[in-house]
Amino acid sequence: MEYIPAKTILSGYQEQKSWFGCHYNMNLYRGCCHGCIYCDSRSECYGIDHFDQVCAKENALETLERELRAKRRTGIIHTGSMSDPYNPFERDERLTQGALEKIARYGFGVVMATKSDLVVRDIPLLQRIREHSPVAVNITITTAEDALGKQVEPSAPAASRRFTVLRKLSEAGIPAGVLLMPVLPWITDDPANIRAIVEKAAQAGAKYLFNGGKEMFGLTMRDRQREYFYARLDENFPGLSTRYRKTYGYDYGCNSPLAKPLWGEYTRACRVCGVAYQMADIISIIRKGYEEPQLSLF
Ligand code: SF4
Repeated sequence: MEYIPAKTILSGYQEQKSWFGCHYNMNLYRGCCHGCIYCDSRSECYGIDHFDQVCAKENALETLERELRAKRRTGIIHTGSMSDPYNPFERDERLTQGALEKIARYGFGVVMATKSDLVVRDIPLLQRIREHSPVAVNITITTAEDALGKQVEPSAPAASRRFTVLRKLSEAGIPAGVLLMPVLPWITDDPANIRAIVEKAAQAGAKYLFNGGKEMFGLTMRDRQREYFYARLDENFPGLSTRYRKTYGYDYGCNSPLAKPLWGEYTRACRVCGVAYQMADIISIIRKGYEEPQLSLF
C-alpha cells in the first residue's frame, strides 16, 4: 500500500443533489483491487495508472477535518464513486472509519457505495450520523449468482455476502439499496438475473434499487476501460469481445439489446416487491425526517 500526496479530500458544494441527494464527494483512496472487469475508473480521463494498486491519500483524515471545519454548509457526502471505500486495506488502515467519525462529529450526512461486507463494521458510526443527518449505503450487485460474479468481479466479496450486508444494514435501521449497474450485454442482461436481484434485495430489506434507466440498461465504455474489459472477455467468455466490437464499435453507451423488455421486468419486479427505483423517490427515502442542510456553525 502506497501513500500519495493529496491537496483535497472533499469536492466543492453541489447544489444540484441529483446523485442520491448528495452535496459533496469524498475520495480517501485512489485505485481499487476488487478487479471488476468493467470498471470505468480505468479510463484515461481519470489519469490513474496501475488502477488495481490501492493508494491511500497522505494525511487524509487531517485534511478532511480541516475541510469539514471550513465548509460553510453542511450536507450529504458521497463516497465510493472512483474506488471502493471498503477495499481490503481499509480493515487495517481505517481511513473510511476515521472519516465517518469526523462526519458524525461535524454534522454531515453520508451516502456510501461499496461491494464489501466490511461496511458492517461501521454500522455503529452510521447510526451515530443518522441521529442528526441522512445516511444510506448502496451495495452494488450486478449478478445474483456467485459463480458469475467471480468472473466479472473476481476479487470483490460474493453477491451472496452482499445480500447479507443489506440485511444487516436494514436490521440496524440504516437505509440501504442496490446499485444494479452496469448491466453487461450477453452476460448479466438475463431477465431471470434482473428479477432475482430485485427479489433477493427486497427480501434482505433493501429500500430501493437504482439503475441508469431504460436508456442506459447496459454499460459505458471508454479507451483503457474497453481494452481491459475485452481482454478479460477473451479469457472468460471466448468470442464475446468480437460480438461487442461488431455491435458497439467505439460507442460510449453500450445498451443491452434487451434494454426495453429488461426495464419493464425490472420496474415490474420493483413494484411487486415494494421497493423504489426512481431517483426522486430514493432521495425522499434517504432524506425523510431531515431538514435541508444548514449553514455550518463551524
Ligand atoms: S469496486 Fe468499483 S472501483 Fe473497485 S474495481 Fe469494482 S467497479 Fe471499480
